[in-house]
Amino acid sequence: ALTVHVNDQNKRRRQILDEFLDLKGNIRVFCRVKPLGASDKRKPPVASDTRNVIIKLTETKRKTYNFDRVFQPDSSQDDVFLEIEPVIKSVIDGYNACIFAYGQTGTGKNYTMEGLPNSPGIVPRAIKGLFKQVEESNHRFEITFSMLEIYMGNLKDLLLSQANKPISPIPPSLSIHTDGKGEIEIENLVNIKVNDFNEVFKLYKAGCRNRATASTNSNSVSSRSHCMIRVSITCHGAPERRRETNKIWLVDLGGSERVLKTKAIGRRFDEGKAINLSLSALGDVINSLQHKNSHIPYRNSKLTQVLKDSLGQDSKTLMMVHISPKEDDLCETICSLNFATRAKNIHLGQDESTE
Ligand code: ADP
Repeated sequence: ALTVHVNDQNKRRRQILDEFLDLKGNIRVFCRVKPLGASDKRKPPVASDTRNVIIKLTETKRKTYNFDRVFQPDSSQDDVFLEIEPVIKSVIDGYNACIFAYGQTGTGKNYTMEGLPNSPGIVPRAIKGLFKQVEESNHRFEITFSMLEIYMGNLKDLLLSQANKPISPIPPSLSIHTDGKGEIEIENLVNIKVNDFNEVFKLYKAGCRNRATASTNSNSVSSRSHCMIRVSITCHGAPERRRETNKIWLVDLGGSERVLKTKAIGRRFDEGKAINLSLSALGDVINSLQHKNSHIPYRNSKLTQVLKDSLGQDSKTLMMVHISPKEDDLCETICSLNFATRAKNIHLGQDESTE
């Protein structure tokens, strides 16, 4: 039975890779449904299978949302990474890539990206995967690591304390430029050369400690900022490659809950508003890319300016939308599913009536 399982996995791996390298399908939208907590006794209004999320709107009305892939509450971190792995492979093959975790605070974005020590998520697995692929390759690669946060529309370098130079009392400002080849450069961003997984993971942990976190009514330690890590891979002496340096961004987005619902006031309200604005700018960019519009509104947020050369064109983008199955969260769940629908030309299933 084990051999069959491994063969199935390998077959699925090849299939996913083929799908992913197909340039027509370079934005994928996945959905992950969080498990119900032990104290959630009510029957959830959210059901799912591997491609669909079905919302029970009333006793007689259902709405179905289709995705490239849905991870149900019992899906494991292994299941998720199996579908993500091709993105990692595409970076080694010469593409830029970007993986986002989107969703209401508490729906599992951090669980998907960082994971837990005994249940690692995409970030540690992707970094391990990159080093493994580099070791197996015939080319000579150099890998560098950067980490930043976007908070209230400003960029903050999370690795300043790790840079091999004296820390100045006023951190240098990070500015975004486009070079002659259309590549985005973030001036002054610390970019550290790394040799193995452990070095990267230490930097990642140090970066996480430097994040701005705050309490809201939605969650005790919720993040009102976007946390972005960038792994750049430079391949020396391979003129046939489309670029010398490729990068992958792994982005844990700020909570998507609408700011009025969190009952936030003052600074918390402003933080929430900044997150809401940049998430809608991201949605607009992805939507314009999907429709192949001639104007893509990258300039409307720092988030999309930073990601300009890693979203669209021949880059690989993967958006993982997280939802809660709980009745109390239904409004936010529907908002997240609607965001996902705009992000992907997802075919929206016909409203069903069980009458
Ligand atoms: P977010 O980053 O979206 O605010 P978290 O990742 O912090 O949410 O998740 C909230 C809590 O739920 C955490 O304790 C996390 O470990 C748990 N959790 C989230 N998703 C899952 C999952 N798929 N399986 C098990 N636990 C989960």
